[in-house]
Amino acid sequence: MGCYNNEWERYRRVRNTSILLWLGFLPAVWILHSFSGIANSEPIIGVLMAIYFLVWVAWGIRVSLFRCPRCGKCLNTTWWFSLGGLNRSCLHCGLKKFSSPPE
Ligand SMILES: [Zn+2]
Repeated sequence: MGCYNNEWERYRRVRNTSILLWLGFLPAVWILHSFSGIANSEPIIGVLMAIYFLVWVAWGIRVSLFRCPRCGKCLNTTWWFSLGGLNRSCLHCGLKKFSSPPE
């Protein structure tokens, strides 16, 4: 994987954490809802869900703004366009994700 190995590994961690947060949102709602029968717990549950939502959004922004290892610009975002990390290559220089530089 060449000299971009560390950057791609970091990108995988950020992207996979974002996916896990996305997948975990409904189970988190269900788990917190099961505690809603406890007296005066609704404000606390609301705050916890707001925190969860903000962390999820922050991780989504981290994925969107991740820097390309070759050109240093945002890998998944331009000033007018974003695929939310679904693009297969850098939107600026075309470097394929998880590829190595030519020798
Ligand atoms: Zn690039």
